[in-house]
Amino acid sequence: MKKKKGLKILISVIAVLLALIFIAWNFILPKVDTLGFRYVAVNAGTSFLKAQTSDEVDALLKKTDGFIKGVCHPNENYQQIGEANIEWVRFDISHLPYDENGELTEGYLSFKERAKGYADNGFKVMAITPYPDDYIEAGLDPRDEANKEEIQKIAKFYATDLQGIVSAFQITNEMGIEHFTLPLTLEEAAYFMGIQCEAMQDVKEEIIVGYNLAGTTLYETCRLMKPYHDYCDYVALDLYLGCFENVFKDIWVFDALLRYVWSYSGKPVILNEFGYMGYGDVKTEEQKNDILKTYGYENEEAARKDIMGLINNLPKDFKEHMLSLEYANEKELANKLFDTELANHLYRELQGGYQLTDYRHTPEDQGKFFTDLFKRLYNLDFLCGAIVYCYSDSDACYICGQPDCPVETGWGLVDLNGNPKPAYYAVKDAFANK
Ligand SMILES: [Zn+2]
Repeated sequence: MKKKKGLKILISVIAVLLALIFIAWNFILPKVDTLGFRYVAVNAGTSFLKAQTSDEVDALLKKTDGFIKGVCHPNENYQQIGEANIEWVRFDISHLPYDENGELTEGYLSFKERAKGYADNGFKVMAITPYPDDYIEAGLDPRDEANKEEIQKIAKFYATDLQGIVSAFQITNEMGIEHFTLPLTLEEAAYFMGIQCEAMQDVKEEIIVGYNLAGTTLYETCRLMKPYHDYCDYVALDLYLGCFENVFKDIWVFDALLRYVWSYSGKPVILNEFGYMGYGDVKTEEQKNDILKTYGYENEEAARKDIMGLINNLPKDFKEHMLSLEYANEKELANKLFDTELANHLYRELQGGYQLTDYRHTPEDQGKFFTDLFKRLYNLDFLCGAIVYCYSDSDACYICGQPDCPVETGWGLVDLNGNPKPAYYAVKDAFANK
């Protein structure tokens, strides 16, 4: 009798749980699902139940001679780079290969020369193909079906002409991040990437080809790219937790999101960009107002009221960046500047919360971040490589152009004079252990 009662209770509990899951899945989660949240959570969770590697992973690692130990934006100090156990370098092609007369462009030739320099010194090169904008400027708008053939011809040219020099292609960069993607929609961007992966398929030989996910659209981008996954050797993730957002505070979110990409895509995964800002403090309201005063405003409230005036007074690069963003009205533009991480550029600071728990934005903690994270990454068998962002500190922020903006200047393993920072030694040790 007692047994039966227990069974009844158990069945009721299970029924209630199933009902709650059903309600949450169908009625609650869709309301918060603008980021594909439920798919990220479910795929990250179910990844634990799936095999942690595949024949495709093994095949890729064979082509790459093992785990990709890479760095973004290297300088020309081959010896110092090599001494950090770095085997791969990753940088942009930036230019279409030839002009309308079929003449090779200077920009492409200088990329090729540079890439050859690394290849000759024993490094493998991952090349990033140009942005949608570069094609539009050359009269090859990817949104026009008539340009498909020419865009595919260019992709084929890269994969053919760079044999023996380049070992991997990443097709364009971070589609979904507004300032890289516009004026394309995400659907158009996926098509733009997909047709290039397809074009390279027959000519790439041992070169690996894939694309990178980034930002809050990573679920959408991956979903839209699925029809092209047969042409991709890998799917990459770019991830900068604790730097551009103040939501995720824990280093394990790296594992969770990588697991999600593995589970959802089923493709070998590479961490194509990741790192940690090496400096950046919180500023007081007084310090911020002092900055606004240099533009002629007493405080934020006054600046918001004259947002176009403020933007027109910003440093040239920053102004151009702001005007390149999509916005419905001036109020929305003001919100973008003051309420998102763009405020960090305006105030040359890192607002409170823009850091991982236990890792401050200092050179020492930047090193600690790499030491701790690599230990976690090495537990993921489906992960085929990790490419550190980046090799050297920068003398000016590429978004706002200001030399003292911490957002895009302090990411390097070496400082502006080429001297190793703690992060250099942390990465060197981590790569030695793989
Ligand atoms: Zn900046």
